Amino acid sequence: MTAAPDSPLATLWCPAPNHEERRGGRAPDMLLLHYTGMETAESALDWLTRQESGVSCHYLVDEEGRIAQLVAESERAWHAGQSTWAGETDINSCSIGIEIHNPGHDFDYPDFTDAELRAVGALCRDILGRNAIPPDRVLAHSDVAPGRKRDPGEKFPWERLAAEGVGLWVPPAPIEGDQGLGPGDEGVEVEALQRDLLAYGYGVEVTSTYGTGLEKAVEAFQRHFRQGKIDGRADASTRKTLARLLTARARFAVA
Ligand SMILES: [Zn+2]
Repeated sequence: MTAAPDSPLATLWCPAPNHEERRGGRAPDMLLLHYTGMETAESALDWLTRQESGVSCHYLVDEEGRIAQLVAESERAWHAGQSTWAGETDINSCSIGIEIHNPGHDFDYPDFTDAELRAVGALCRDILGRNAIPPDRVLAHSDVAPGRKRDPGEKFPWERLAAEGVGLWVPPAPIEGDQGLGPGDEGVEVEALQRDLLAYGYGVEVTSTYGTGLEKAVEAFQRHFRQGKIDGRADASTRKTLARLLTARARFAVA
């Protein structure tokens, strides 16, 4: 365990007890963003550095843009919980976790502040400079734990971050007002949707039935990539945005 932060941007070093070696010697290749979901950043820092909380993270950014480091990047922090992405289930072993202070959906979900977003952008770029993390693996907690987690939520400006060189983003296709596919639907179109989500990394099963798991995955996708309407229905806008994203990633992969 290092005695100093990995990031020169971290002005506070607040070691958290909950961490261990990354399993299988896994190097981090994912950046996972969260909101704290607590009323104040101080209470979040207190909680995240207590053993009995059973959680921790690598970095905490408060609403003033101050950055604290809690766990060394080389170590496995406890922020993802039961999660899955691209077939992998030990997300803590492959990721670096940033908690961004915001009280979240249970406390009226205020806007993120400009100061914290500037700090988050700078911190992400700094982390990406030290670790081999592809753009499509800069993710929301909700992406890897659909249905269980909603953070950092539909107010988090992924587009702004992408403009700063962090993460993969495509302009969402316009919402057309069509019903699209939804719970209870079955058939080849549902199966194609499941295959596309699975191809991007979402933990969905290919069953050709629009069940709760698919609904939650679509909701998670919308919170990240089509924030104008979060309803778990695969309308034309959602499906076109997903197709654009897969194309953008394929272009990136061959570049
Ligand atoms: Zn989270």
